[in-house]
Amino acid sequence: MSNLTIELKGKERDEYIRKHFRKAPSLPIAAALWLPGSSNRKTGNVPTLWIGRTMEETRASCKGCPLCPKKEGGNGECYAYGSPEYALHSIQRAAAKDPERYTVNRALSNSKRSAKMARLGALGDPGRLPLDYLKRSILKVRAVGLEAVGYTHHWRDLPSLAGWLMASCDALGQVDGALAAGWRVAVKVPWDFLGDNGTGRFKTPGGAAGIVCPAVKTDGGITCNDCRLCDGSKAGPVIAFPSHGPAFSHKLRSRRARDKERTAKAAALLDRLDKGGE
Ligand code: SF4
Ligand code: SF4
Repeated sequence: MSNLTIELKGKERDEYIRKHFRKAPSLPIAAALWLPGSSNRKTGNVPTLWIGRTMEETRASCKGCPLCPKKEGGNGECYAYGSPEYALHSIQRAAAKDPERYTVNRALSNSKRSAKMARLGALGDPGRLPLDYLKRSILKVRAVGLEAVGYTHHWRDLPSLAGWLMASCDALGQVDGALAAGWRVAVKVPWDFLGDNGTGRFKTPGGAAGIVCPAVKTDGGITCNDCRLCDGSKAGPVIAFPSHGPAFSHKLRSRRARDKERTAKAAALLDRLDKGGE
């Protein structure tokens, strides 16, 4: 980032960045903040990488992702910029005082025995860290017997990361191109996407097999630590993520309530039929 952007403040600085940086700038290794565990219920308690020593760095790493904060030119739909942002603030404050506590070595050495994977990353795009560092970190994850689960929205300009991370696509129409470029793929789908005939399975326009993320499908019954399908080095289906940020959670809640009501009605009807038949 130029000296000018450092001197500018507030809205002026945001405006300058929006105008002059078309894609996310590279970040230094120091922007990789690793923790040995996580309280995220979806992933499970696994070593986790957070990106950015400051929220400016975090947001900058996402620049170019259509879901990124409006300040960076996105639509602001990324659910990771909800409450995880507060967690990252306190990690950043602590890391500023003692950066050595937030290295990949320390996180992996102190991780729980139950961890079977590491997550790259909780907030921010790991694809904007130095690639040698990122690959070395993934090799370390594997060296301690864990799988590396992570995504980048910058897959189009990072061909050498295919086989290391998953490509994040924003629509089914993008998936076949990413697959042809050698990536495993995760794709955002509408909040009410259920796959073919509600099975959770589907095909891309080019015919590749996909499934709805099991953690989303089971409403948290399966964690990433159980599943680990999003390790970009492994063969596997395309993973669909129904939009599940705050903007969609009330719709999901009412769909679940309707499903519950339907199940209860069906059980009561069958019960009545049984009793009538006795
Ligand atoms: S989806 Fe990933 S790259 Fe996009 S804004 Fe969210 S954290 Fe950043
Ligand atoms: S497919 Fe598996 S590893 Fe990927 S996000 Fe869903 S639960 Fe996690």
